[in-house]
Amino acid sequence: MIKIEKLHKSFGSLDVLKGISTTINDGEVVAIIGPSGSGKSTFLRCINLLETPTSGNIWINEQDITNKKTDIMKVRENVGMVFQHFHLFPHKTVLENLTYAPMKVKGKSKQEAEKKGLQLLEQVGLAAKANEYPNRLSGGQKQRVAIARALAMEPDFMLFDEPTSALDPEMVKEVLDVMKSLAHTGMTMAIVTHEMGFAREVADRVLFLDGGNLVEDAPPSQFFSNPATNRAKDFLQKML
Ligand code: ADP
Ligand code: MG
Repeated sequence: MIKIEKLHKSFGSLDVLKGISTTINDGEVVAIIGPSGSGKSTFLRCINLLETPTSGNIWINEQDITNKKTDIMKVRENVGMVFQHFHLFPHKTVLENLTYAPMKVKGKSKQEAEKKGLQLLEQVGLAAKANEYPNRLSGGQKQRVAIARALAMEPDFMLFDEPTSALDPEMVKEVLDVMKSLAHTGMTMAIVTHEMGFAREVADRVLFLDGGNLVEDAPPSQFFSNPATNRAKDFLQKML
């Protein structure tokens, strides 16, 4: 479980997160939505310490990761992240992209890492691409490899920052389908997305951020049909 209490993040004099508190329970899928610049990426990046919170606390499985003694690498091992722009290793094959960290960081044998890697490629529908290089893949395929690569570390949590925003429209569905089936395995997921249909269908909760504040935290049925605030209403109107 991830518990966040009074999370603040500033860059210089710019207050980007202004005291966010929420809990993401085990097995929950949380969609994070809100206008550009509202702090969605910064919020996700604080959860795996790509950004250092200015104040507040974040507990991951009971461990306070804002404690100075926290081993940041250990936290990141357990919290997989998928970015808008894939970030694959260009000079490694697809399978090598999946086996690198498990061997290097977790000390897995090559044989063990490859077995798991091939199983994950199967899961995202890309077993046939194991020996290709990333530049030979479509955007949708690259993103599915990025998801498999994050899963290869066997994380308890998966964070997605606009995973389909850089894709051509015809490739969005194949990535959302992989995420949907991952959600059905019980993975705990936090997803920044502009795909309202997906959020409505797959998320257990919607977090609506605006101006660095968590303005609404509600089940999608409630959020999409009857948002509590005018800010959310305005946002949803623009999305339609
Ligand atoms: P979102 O993902 O909702 O679009 P971000 O979290 O990326 O929002 O950004 C929120 C605000 O924080 C923006 O004004 C952005 O310019 C600012 N910001 C984000 N990262 C940095 C940084 N590393 N340094 C300075 N300002 C930043
Ligand atoms: Mg962002």
